[in-house]
Amino acid sequence: MSTDKKTAVITGASRGIGLATAKKLASKGIDIAVVYIGSQEEADNAKKEIEAFGVRAEMYYCDVSDFEQSKACVEKIMEDFGGIDILVNNAGITRDKLLLKMDEADFDAVINVNLKGTFNMIKHTCRQFMKKRSGRIVNISSVTGLMGNAGQVNYSASKAGVIGITKTVAKELASRNVTVNAVAPGFIMTDMTNVLSDSVKEQFTKSIPMGRGGTPDEVANVIAFLCSDEASYITGEVIRIDGGLAM
Ligand code: NAP
Repeated sequence: MSTDKKTAVITGASRGIGLATAKKLASKGIDIAVVYIGSQEEADNAKKEIEAFGVRAEMYYCDVSDFEQSKACVEKIMEDFGGIDILVNNAGITRDKLLLKMDEADFDAVINVNLKGTFNMIKHTCRQFMKKRSGRIVNISSVTGLMGNAGQVNYSASKAGVIGITKTVAKELASRNVTVNAVAPGFIMTDMTNVLSDSVKEQFTKSIPMGRGGTPDEVANVIAFLCSDEASYITGEVIRIDGGLAM
């Protein structure tokens, strides 16, 4: 990648792992386009936190599971920033239930955001990465995509699918100097895991060799490395960030 000013698009970056990643990349002087779908207030606060690093931050309301909305969003970001250098597909949801109780809507919602959303954003950004002959794509998978997890058939399937997308697109774009990698976080302390009961949290913690959950910053550090010039010869890789959980 060139040493010119860069722009990163991060989906779901008004909180959690996405916001930590936005701040980490901003600390390296990278401008940030945040894709969000939740509260405007949260998005406004995130914008201020990112801008505090002296970079440009713009917020784009978009449902990544919607093909046309994602297309329009990427086009607007291209128009505003003049190009995209980094795409981090972080947006994700859970609708946990055991298979017997899970209905079709729970399955479809999670697949549509986590898996199709990743496809949509890559589909709409890849042409300009290929033209520029440079780019970084990092997809957020999960250890559940590697090892499965009772109560998460929809989520595990979506995250395993993200690994499939990662490896396939890595092969398709490698000759254009575009790297595509995934991270597979374990139990990370964000809103997503905060909703779990204390007993489930305790159970998780017990099964982690390092004996604790991870922080959003610990995930953001690895994503930032994969987005950096130092990671120029890594593609199609999946890096676990899980304190040894899926070892
Ligand atoms: P989080 O705090 O719940 O954040 C999820 C983000 O996704 C939010 O910013 C949300 O946007 C965004 N989002 C959800 N649906 C969207 C949609 N349709 N379009 C656009 N954005 C959407 O969760 P997190 O823990 O930071 O998770 C971030 C990623 O890491 C997810 O892909 C998750 O599956 C993955 N992950 C998390 C863990 C963990 O233990 N926390 C472990 C493994 C993998 P708004 O803020 O605008 O609502």
